[in-house]
Amino acid sequence: MRWNGQRLDTESTSALPGLAQLSSLVRSVKSPEFAGITFHEVLAKSALNHVPTQSTMPFSYTINPYRGCSHACVYCFARPTHTYLDLDSGLDFDSQIVVKVNVAEVLAKELAKPSWAHHPVALGTNTDPYQRAEGRYALMPGIIEALADSGTPFSILTKGTLLRRDLPLLVEASKRVKVDIGMSIAIYDDDLQQSVEPGTPTAKARLATVRAVRDAGLECSVFLMPILPYLTDTTTHLDDALARVKEAGATSVLHSVLYLKPGIKPWFMQWLEREHPEQVESYRAMYPGSSSYAPKEYRAWLGRRIRPLLAKHGLRQGVADPATGGVASSALGLLPQMDDQRLFTPVGRAPRPARPPVNAVPGSPTLF
Ligand code: SF4
Repeated sequence: MRWNGQRLDTESTSALPGLAQLSSLVRSVKSPEFAGITFHEVLAKSALNHVPTQSTMPFSYTINPYRGCSHACVYCFARPTHTYLDLDSGLDFDSQIVVKVNVAEVLAKELAKPSWAHHPVALGTNTDPYQRAEGRYALMPGIIEALADSGTPFSILTKGTLLRRDLPLLVEASKRVKVDIGMSIAIYDDDLQQSVEPGTPTAKARLATVRAVRDAGLECSVFLMPILPYLTDTTTHLDDALARVKEAGATSVLHSVLYLKPGIKPWFMQWLEREHPEQVESYRAMYPGSSSYAPKEYRAWLGRRIRPLLAKHGLRQGVADPATGGVASSALGLLPQMDDQRLFTPVGRAPRPARPPVNAVPGSPTLF
């Protein structure tokens, strides 16, 4: 592993106040290679999270090896989860990263239980499994192996180019179970991307990762999420984005509009006031009061704008999992039920009854 043999860092003598609640806290460490970030290493009691859902699928499972995310996207709707630890949903979410150091081991035990029914498992639906911490802790190889060994299909959604490190493992896993990979790339204007998602790799680097996934023989969806009203919804931006996505070899594209749930909105609006004050009034009108969603008229308008562009670039619209907000597992045999089957029917898959597509589930957010 890349970090093996390196001098160990600074061990904190006192955890942050809320982290004292974590009886499983092993230690808190800082590392010169990760300036400004503190890792709080914990021993997880469980790895699989059962996600209650209103969808017609009764079960859904996720794994989150990290809490908090140094990718630091201002719109990230997982931010409020940090407040459960008495950490704040702003800078603390970006820089106080909880690491479940034993997650693969615990997962292997959970998957070995006779009661485990091998439901598809989604990774990357709450925090990014290939955020920078993964370079240090390398938890994903053990997770991938545990899932493949147990015959459990899984999906990964990420903005992290570190996924390339695990491509050989993912290829091997895909010979045994269904593996769905999604790369989240929402913003193709470099300055805007660095401002909104300051801890993420560039769009160019992520597109190169899509290409690497495809060259390895795996499918790769691109999540064009979130589209930011007035900032990334122009035909020019979308057209350029889809041209580059097509060139990278993506197998499908999913899109959705910015979701600003309570707890996120103040953080996002602070950023907007600082970086794009000219848009503040427009956003207040689009997301009034406690409203988290852009008006349905706007979403319909955006759909009308983007569909011809998908067709122009020969891209098909993919399906997100309404239960997790991540990549819909092809293991579920889902069929999209969009309004243009000519464009959206997956190639080579027979029609089967399906859950509603994510667009049909009111209020179903998607993280990336
Ligand atoms: S949106 Fe995803 S990549 Fe960005 S901070 Fe949140 S979890 Fe991390």
